[in-house]
Amino acid sequence: MSSGQVRPGVGTSGGAPDRLLRAAVAATVAWLVLYTVLTALCRDSPRGAMFVGDILYLVPLIAGVLVAGVAVRREQGRHRTLWQLLTVAFAAQLTGESIWAGYDYLTPDGPPAPSVADIGFLLSSTLMVVAVLVGFGGAGRLRHLRGLLDSTLIIVSLGALGWQMLVRPQLSEGMAFADAVNIAYPLLDVVLLACLGIVGLAGHKSVPMTVRLVGAAGAVNAVSDIVYTYIATFSDYDSGSWVDIGFEIAAALCFLAAVVAVRRPELPAEPRSFDRGMPLMPILISVTATSALVAFDKVSAGAVGDLTLIVVAVLFLTVMLRQYLFAADRAGLAEQLAVAVTEQRRLAVTDGLTGLYNRRHLMAIVDRLRGAPAGRPVSLMVVDLDHFKLVNDTHGHLAGDAVLQEAAARITTTARASDVVARYGGEEFVLLLTDTDGAEAERLAERVRRRLRETPVVVGDAVIALTASIGVASSPDGSVQHLLEAADRALYRAKEHGRDQVMTVAAPVREPVAVPGPTG
Ligand code: GH3
Ligand code: MG
Ligand code: MG
Repeated sequence: MSSGQVRPGVGTSGGAPDRLLRAAVAATVAWLVLYTVLTALCRDSPRGAMFVGDILYLVPLIAGVLVAGVAVRREQGRHRTLWQLLTVAFAAQLTGESIWAGYDYLTPDGPPAPSVADIGFLLSSTLMVVAVLVGFGGAGRLRHLRGLLDSTLIIVSLGALGWQMLVRPQLSEGMAFADAVNIAYPLLDVVLLACLGIVGLAGHKSVPMTVRLVGAAGAVNAVSDIVYTYIATFSDYDSGSWVDIGFEIAAALCFLAAVVAVRRPELPAEPRSFDRGMPLMPILISVTATSALVAFDKVSAGAVGDLTLIVVAVLFLTVMLRQYLFAADRAGLAEQLAVAVTEQRRLAVTDGLTGLYNRRHLMAIVDRLRGAPAGRPVSLMVVDLDHFKLVNDTHGHLAGDAVLQEAAARITTTARASDVVARYGGEEFVLLLTDTDGAEAERLAERVRRRLRETPVVVGDAVIALTASIGVASSPDGSVQHLLEAADRALYRAKEHGRDQVMTVAAPVREPVAVPGPTG
């Protein structure tokens, strides 16, 4: 198992504690405590609050951009793209905050709403979403599309609810552009969280620490954005406010994610082949939201509004499309499963070395034949390579394996299509010959014997002579009851009589000859 597949916690690198990572965590915690204390101390000093909220505030952001830049060089593939996007996102955030600070210090009224700084903030939030989508990746386009639809369901549901019930009633004289910009923040956060939750967690076995930290930052940011939007829409926001601590924590988490990426480059998240998905959540949210919207409209206005109808239609269509994709995804998984089961079945009946049937499968077939009605003749042949131990001892086990493979190939090509050829044990092969009487089985056994001894097997520099003893047993009426034992007895006699010969249960087919034995 490589270090990318295990999931070590923060602060470990290949098992050993990582001092730099620990120092970064300690410094981050210390900084956040200091920042909180300074925010508290500057409650009554506008200049102090501005310094804390505009200047000190930038420290983790600057650190984050710098370390993320280093992470880009350390990571590879998909994670490199992730960190390129995150570096630009952090830089956009830093630029926005710097412009904000410039307005605070250089203009008498502070930043206008909206301001150029908002471009940086919105760009940053959007890039974070793209980064998360890229960083996860690998779960399949279908699932990403499904994740996107799930995000749409949640965003449209929550967005419509928030808009209709909370924001619109307060905005009697219509909505200003500034309010639209402010509302875009929590919306983008919800998109980010939905992407993290659905696209990522639903399709992956494990999520890298870096992505988890970025996700945590997104969550903290989302809560802070909601508070910020509320303050900015309904009262007045000033730098150095309590809500800045939330943003500062988010920035610090991004910085830590970058440090983790620098210290321990990670493999892309492993896709989960059979994901649990989120079958109900987005649908539950949309159904609840539409019901609440319709009920709210009926109670407050007496009739269902156009906007509510549009939202209901969009949600309905999205749910339909999502369910279609969900079914398609499941069908894809079922297909994968079927292929896997077929392969497992093949492996279960196959001998790994020779590709012949294995003993278990042979016995299953013999068992099946036992129940079959008697009538047609059946024969069975046991082929045992002579002095095979000597091949191993002389040429090594690997050469022995090669000889076994070659012997298996020769036996298979000599046998007829209807014969069942199995590797019964180490260097023993069994051929089950249906519809074959004793005479025909003996002729086939003789062909196999000759085919095996005909040319020596060449393995590397070694030329290995090969012979086999074969026992044959037949049953004129198709009873397989004692066929294997009988063939085995015949084989034993073939060995006793000098090897390299075919014996039936009755008598040897030919006179025994001098055994050449394996030579190298
Ligand atoms: P005999 O002529 O009496 O059959 O002698 P033998 O040496 O062939 O018989 P024995 O049963 O004493 O030895 C069989 C050898 O086959 C022993 C074992 O090391 C070897 N063998 C069994 N399975 C494998 C295998 O998968 N690979 C290799 N290379 N050798 C194997
Ligand atoms: Mg043997
Ligand atoms: Mg043998």
